[in-house]
Amino acid sequence: MFQSGADIIYQINFPDFDKFQTEISSISISDLAKEVKPQIILIGSTFLGRELAPLVAARLKTGLTAHCIDLVLTEDMILEQWIPAYGGLIAITCPEKRPQIATVARGVFPIPTLDKNKTGRLVLVDKPEDINPRVKTLEIIRTDPEGVPLEEAHTVVAGGAGAGSREGWKQIEDLAQTLNAALGSTRPAVDEGWIDLETMIGQSGKMVHPDLYIGVGLSGEQQHMVGIASAKVMVAINNDPKSPVFHQVNYGIVEDCGEFIPIFIKKLEEYLDN
Ligand SMILES: Cc1cc2nc3c(=O)[nH]c(=O)nc-3n(C[C@H](O)[C@H](O)[C@H](O)COP(=O)(O)OP(=O)(O)OC[C@H]3O[C@@H](n4cnc5c(N)ncnc54)[C@H](O)[C@@H]3O)c2cc1C
Repeated sequence: MFQSGADIIYQINFPDFDKFQTEISSISISDLAKEVKPQIILIGSTFLGRELAPLVAARLKTGLTAHCIDLVLTEDMILEQWIPAYGGLIAITCPEKRPQIATVARGVFPIPTLDKNKTGRLVLVDKPEDINPRVKTLEIIRTDPEGVPLEEAHTVVAGGAGAGSREGWKQIEDLAQTLNAALGSTRPAVDEGWIDLETMIGQSGKMVHPDLYIGVGLSGEQQHMVGIASAKVMVAINNDPKSPVFHQVNYGIVEDCGEFIPIFIKKLEEYLDN
């Protein structure tokens, strides 16, 4: 972290850290913030960070801008926190409260070039005494990820509400498998219970960088599309010729996905066999 630019690192001495006790972490960080008084706190929009950030913001009685897709520091040191909203992009500055707190997902910014010669000051901090958390993580059971990881995939097939049903979703899964692609989703597909939250692409999900993105039965809402902004070639399959998604992709296919995908898979298999 020093080589990435940090001058001071505060390391909270927390023996059970690998189990991530949210309440203890949020109290430790907010107590430290009250002492050090940072103007800005940035937290990774990871599964843990998404839980931690609102707790820290609430304890510090300040605002939080979650899932920013850009951050701009103005000349007077105000952080503009850009998010997609109201059909466009808006900057939130939280003018009355400090610190400003924002979360940013992995992949939004490029990885900085490390300065191998840079060092800094490490300050060890004890966690506050007498915290008796109401919620404790007792054990973490890790599962092996299935298929191609979304963030590293060269091809991504993402499905949306237009899948219509679990059976319709299965067709989208089959398409992803045929193309050896990672499977992504929109918020409604997750809400329907067709697929896990980890596959959601977009502002509050993952940022992906594939060579080829195929969006099936999704409308191209900005909260989803920010997650695929760096895809090289984008294709959309949607049965509504007026869908806004067609203005945002390189190739559009106006078809009912339930009818089109089985034929598409058959053609792909024939092509791959040859
Ligand atoms: C703060 C915030 C954060 C959010 N973060 C995210 C995020 O990270 N990721 C995300 O995805 N969403 C996110 N959302 C939700 C987002 O705003 C949209 O609601 C969502 O992306 C829409 O998903 P969809 O395109 O699948 O559904 P819809 O908008 O309902 O679109 C469904 C599309 O399917 C088409 N269709 C229907 N039937 C068929 C068929 N048989 N064949 C082909 N096409 C068909 C329709 O024409 C329509 O265009 C967020 C929202 C908010 C407010």
